[in-house]
Amino acid sequence: MKKIAVISDIHGNWEALKRVSQYLEKNIDEIWCLGDIVGYGPEPSKCIEWVKGNCKYVVCGNHDKAVWDTGELIYFNPWAQEAILWTKSKLSEEDIKFLRSLPLCVKEKEFLLVHSSPVNPEQWTYIFSLWEAKEAFQHCEEKVIFVGHTHVPSAFQFGEEEIKEIDFPININNRFRYIINPGSVGQPRDKDPRASFGILYENTFELVRIPYDIKATQKKMYEENLPIFLITRLAQGI
Ligand code: ZN
Repeated sequence: MKKIAVISDIHGNWEALKRVSQYLEKNIDEIWCLGDIVGYGPEPSKCIEWVKGNCKYVVCGNHDKAVWDTGELIYFNPWAQEAILWTKSKLSEEDIKFLRSLPLCVKEKEFLLVHSSPVNPEQWTYIFSLWEAKEAFQHCEEKVIFVGHTHVPSAFQFGEEEIKEIDFPININNRFRYIINPGSVGQPRDKDPRASFGILYENTFELVRIPYDIKATQKKMYEENLPIFLITRLAQGI
């Protein structure tokens, strides 16, 4: 069986993606991306180019959409809005064309890939609680639903009646269905600033964390006058 990497929420952070890429080169057959390639970080075009060339599947994130559909901007806080408008000014027509081409969902055998939730994906709802997870399970039939969006690695297991949050590594069992969030490559928010992603191999999904040169990303963000909060949060993992 193939070894598949599931990555999400790169957010224009090339320094983080570069380190993840070096790790994946040696270890992986296929890469699936759950969206938010751009927004927040200082090198959106480079990240798009890498995703284009390396990912088998890519779904659209809310930031990927907001750069070409500015009607979405009202849903973002002022820092994110500023970063999205800055990102838009840095992208080529080709980059925008690629972001516009991304689907909201991809189905691959027993897997569903979606950025936020299978419940009205275009509304970008978050899956944090058991209740939100349950609603997501009821909205589709796939055995494993891969989501991003929260920037916090997490997993839910859904059985006959019971639903619970489970820890990594996950042993995928025939009796259950799963929601798996691999966390964020470029802006983790679980107080661990290392890049986060996951690897699916046979029946196991493991979470991988790798350090990257956070200061290098921060320096590039200062140079581009991106909002200070977006710069400092990278080192804190918030
Ligand atoms: Zn995101």
